[in-house]
Amino acid sequence: MNNSLCFTLFLAATTFCRAAEQPTLENQALRLELQPSDGSARLLDRRTNISWTLPAPSIRLKDQRSFAAKPSGNVRVSGGMLQYQADDGTGFQWRLVANPPAIEYSFTPGPEVAEVRILHDSLPLEPGEENYYALPYRIGIRLAPEGDLPFSRRMPAYTGIGYSRTKKGIPTGYSMAMFGAVQKGSALLVTWEPPFADLYVDYSGAPHRRLTAGLALRNTAHWIRLQPLGRGGYVEIAKAYRPIARERGLLKTHAEKMRETPSLERMFGAADIKPFLLSRQLAKTPSNPTDKDVLRVSFTFEEAADLAEHYRKDLGMDRAFLVLAGWINGGYDIRHPDILPAAPELGGNEELIKCSKRVKDLGWLFGLHDNYQDIYRDSPSWDEDLIVRDADGSLHQGGVWAGGQCWLICSKVGLELAKRPQNIPRVRELFSPTIYFSDTLFNAPLYECFSPKHPLSIEDDLHYKRELAAYLRGQFGLFGSEEGREWCVPVGDYLEGLMSQKTGWQSNLYAFSEKDVVIPLFELVYHDAVALYSHQGDKPRPDNPTYILDHVLYAEMPVYYFGAHGYWKDPAADFQPPAGAESRMVFARGGRFGLIDQYIKNTYEVLSPLQRLTALMPMTDHRFLTADRKVEATRFGTDLEITVNYGPAPFTIRDAVLPQYGFLVESPTLVAFYANRYRGVAYSDPALIVLRSRDGRPLATSRDVRIYRGFGDGRVELKGKIVPIEGDEKIVTAGNRVRPAP
Ligand SMILES: [Zn+2]
Repeated sequence: MNNSLCFTLFLAATTFCRAAEQPTLENQALRLELQPSDGSARLLDRRTNISWTLPAPSIRLKDQRSFAAKPSGNVRVSGGMLQYQADDGTGFQWRLVANPPAIEYSFTPGPEVAEVRILHDSLPLEPGEENYYALPYRIGIRLAPEGDLPFSRRMPAYTGIGYSRTKKGIPTGYSMAMFGAVQKGSALLVTWEPPFADLYVDYSGAPHRRLTAGLALRNTAHWIRLQPLGRGGYVEIAKAYRPIARERGLLKTHAEKMRETPSLERMFGAADIKPFLLSRQLAKTPSNPTDKDVLRVSFTFEEAADLAEHYRKDLGMDRAFLVLAGWINGGYDIRHPDILPAAPELGGNEELIKCSKRVKDLGWLFGLHDNYQDIYRDSPSWDEDLIVRDADGSLHQGGVWAGGQCWLICSKVGLELAKRPQNIPRVRELFSPTIYFSDTLFNAPLYECFSPKHPLSIEDDLHYKRELAAYLRGQFGLFGSEEGREWCVPVGDYLEGLMSQKTGWQSNLYAFSEKDVVIPLFELVYHDAVALYSHQGDKPRPDNPTYILDHVLYAEMPVYYFGAHGYWKDPAADFQPPAGAESRMVFARGGRFGLIDQYIKNTYEVLSPLQRLTALMPMTDHRFLTADRKVEATRFGTDLEITVNYGPAPFTIRDAVLPQYGFLVESPTLVAFYANRYRGVAYSDPALIVLRSRDGRPLATSRDVRIYRGFGDGRVELKGKIVPIEGDEKIVTAGNRVRPAP
């Protein structure tokens, strides 16, 4: 080391490095070397000896000129900090942070600065084993320098997928203010303060495959943090972000929420039952190109309560929430925010009051689907003054839905509308919901509003969106909305849509790259803080086994598919499997109910106890177990392990053999599997079996074990013995005799 003068960590006095010397910051975990000639830097992870390349930042001025920011004079070195100034007066600082070891990289903008790409073509990766980015796009993706096609993506803060092809295209923002880079198995976490920061990813494609990242800061955003983590991957990256999320007030766990709202416990293991009651598709819209409006009733209020009672009494579904969509005046979803009286076609207020009572009497949560962001010209409250205005003064359009062209209500106004006496206060008085859903709130991007009546910055918009969620949650106890990102976690209890990235619903529309590899980054940070569900349009039919594997793997609950009216009483109204679906009908086997109900019963028996057990546990690991990524495993807490097999080849793990669509959940108090073999028992007819301790003791010593058999050979190993199961359920108590194993 020839630059000992610049070893500044232990130096109190300021020194100046001459151009020939390399200013350096260093501790046990990292070393940062700055190149005074061009402002580039190299960050060495001393635990792995891997270096990260950081070219000079790029400054964009208000007149749109851009240039690379290199030091115009000396680099000052003092007290664990390197500082220099670029030609335009922008000052850059690199500061060593001791615990955890990191570099804070910041700038003080010059007078003409519009934006600084503090990371610019940075952290380059070329093809190689364990070379990839971990990007917080929705739940998360693993992006490697693979594929022939080049692409460039800009990811703004907390901007989702929109579920619509708007005039601006499909946005692909980040759900968490972080990303990770992994090079030869050495991990680096990058974090920043949203919302004025855009993440960029550029890929050159064939033949010189190269992936780089950028981070553009503007307005109040002035710093990022680079945290080398030593050996690791996306799991370690997510774990290193968790304390940062906690510091920012984003990680509010279920345990903490439950202290304020004890009813949250009733959401653990709760299925999302969401019937669409009355839908009205306006004439000449994409879903109804005819001349006449189409009105359809799938359930009256009375029938919706019948559905809940059927699931509770016949299928044993003791935890669920019934959230009614299309209950409002005019049906789904046209007259928002003028929702009352409840649709007379369905029985009106009087029948909805009865429905609410019947559902709550089951021990279920009862909720309604509402919306304070979308408005249509048909709405009695329609007024241009409610709408977000773009910079040019025009009204901001939403998507084109069943109600035709939708317009976006400014978030400040939406909160006021929700509080009108005829909205939430009256809904509460009439129907007393115990859970509530406000559509699109957690999905829409952050908007700047230029209306002179209610101007909003992006930060203001975030504030009012949070306020609306907090208000609705305060009124009803539990709250959820569509899609979701990390700012929603402290003010929401469920995010309906994020799981649809894992299930692959419409993935052709919302993929980030040529081939997204979904990884549970969001789950690794927030699993014990918020429940994820699939989108209301993504409900699994009985021929969809992979949806269930996705939910087993992440320990989340489904949004179930079902028929209309009293479908379970009429075999003709049951699911009719399409040709060739037989192998995919695996979870609908059992023959004790119709196909829809048998599928719900079998999967609920696995997922609900699993989710109850893990709702307070962080996800602590995720791995792909085969090179083709057809087998995945997760861990929750310290001793709950899950393996799922999507692929056609049987997979052996410990003493289990999993066929295609097989899974294994193992923990001290819960075991569930669909397997060819488990613990020495071979199943010639592969079995779905759940063993659950009901006295809190481990299965090995429990005096009260419930065994559920969905289908397949009726026997299972318990306490070293083979237990026969004749029907679908068996309780093994201390007094039960079990046949000794042969
Ligand atoms: Zn506004």
